[in-house]
Amino acid sequence: MDRRKFLKTSLLGAAGAVLSPYILPSGSLFAATNSRLVNHVVFCLFAGGIRNIESVHQAQGNLMPAMLRGTPSSLTGLVTLPASPLSQPLQNYGTLFEEFRYAAGPTGHINGHTVALTGAYTDTGLNLRQNPTSPTVFEYYRKHNSPSQTALNAWWVANQLGAYPSLNYSSHPDYGPAFGANHISPTSIFNDAGVRYIGNQKNFNGSETQALSGIRNYLDNNFSTNAVVNGLGVKNTPDEAERIRIFYQQLINNIVSGSFGNPLGLTGNNASNDVYTIAITEEILKEFKPELLVVNMTDVDICHQNYTNYCANLQKADFAVAHLWNFIQSTPGLANDTILIVAPEHGRNLDNNGIADTYGRYAIDHTGDNTSREIFCMVVGPPGIVRQNVTVGTASSPLGQSIDIVPTIANILGFSPPSSLLAGQKLEAAFV
Ligand SMILES: [Zn+2]
Repeated sequence: MDRRKFLKTSLLGAAGAVLSPYILPSGSLFAATNSRLVNHVVFCLFAGGIRNIESVHQAQGNLMPAMLRGTPSSLTGLVTLPASPLSQPLQNYGTLFEEFRYAAGPTGHINGHTVALTGAYTDTGLNLRQNPTSPTVFEYYRKHNSPSQTALNAWWVANQLGAYPSLNYSSHPDYGPAFGANHISPTSIFNDAGVRYIGNQKNFNGSETQALSGIRNYLDNNFSTNAVVNGLGVKNTPDEAERIRIFYQQLINNIVSGSFGNPLGLTGNNASNDVYTIAITEEILKEFKPELLVVNMTDVDICHQNYTNYCANLQKADFAVAHLWNFIQSTPGLANDTILIVAPEHGRNLDNNGIADTYGRYAIDHTGDNTSREIFCMVVGPPGIVRQNVTVGTASSPLGQSIDIVPTIANILGFSPPSSLLAGQKLEAAFV
């Protein structure tokens, strides 16, 4: 697929996103920061619903050769990808929790994401139009750091829009947008409409800039009413908002000139929205070197209709994660100072749904059976901090669960959320 085609098939037609450079509220002073293990955490939700059967159990052969050891799959209908950017499988650089669990709550995508980002299980009453009630990891990070951290240091990068943007902060009365992350959905903003409407930004002179600033403040304050605080969204300082604006403009220039025609070096059917999302994530990491970035992938969810494409998208996601780690370890300021955590939000059912693909393989949903709660987690990082080349947990003795990821991130970055809000524990087995 050439660049133009890729843009059309993958990026066009998605709804536009809104970038909101606002002003940081004052008055964020909190408890002292604990010592850190490293200064950067990247959490990749290897999402869309992946069964351990196809990932770590390798029932179809190894569909994730960039991340896992094992004989490559010989399933017909797969994609042929370039060699892994890494010299060894990713698992060799860290600890694999082979039997991790999404232990409670509905096995829905938003539920799974919410649990991973809040460290609290959800019940059946999740309203997709509302922010989560439990604080997100971004809010814990920004509120409980000393010195306090701005939104430029916390990013939430989502493959899709839908309800995902609402996960950058909660409705919790002690937290909220003042502590949220910058959110971006690359495939939703860097598309035809994005290029058309924000790709050719105007330069204004002094009085025009002043007038525009007045309009912005008026709109930011919901037309000078005393708006509900939670309605105002995440805020950036004026300087940081300007950095983000310039970054977006440069990204769009690069997209138009073809730099992202083959994201991560993948062409044709090997490219995907997941791959594109990771390519943009690497740009964010390079530009801002945020201390906390969460990114998700979702393309494997095609498994509701097509099992073979699910396996192929698993291959692409695997390659993308390896590329991401190689990028991190090749980037000054991030290399040897970053821990990468990778985990699906939930699994999929043991039984198929009866929909066959052209190879006669059956599609699979995720409706809450035991198999759909079985996932894995990988923690990768510098030797001496993260245990290298270790596998922990067995089917009869699972180790670790979704709600443990937020406390683990807090421990890595040296901040302490109130223990009353988090039931999970640090993933001790991953650390030296
Ligand atoms: Zn699904």
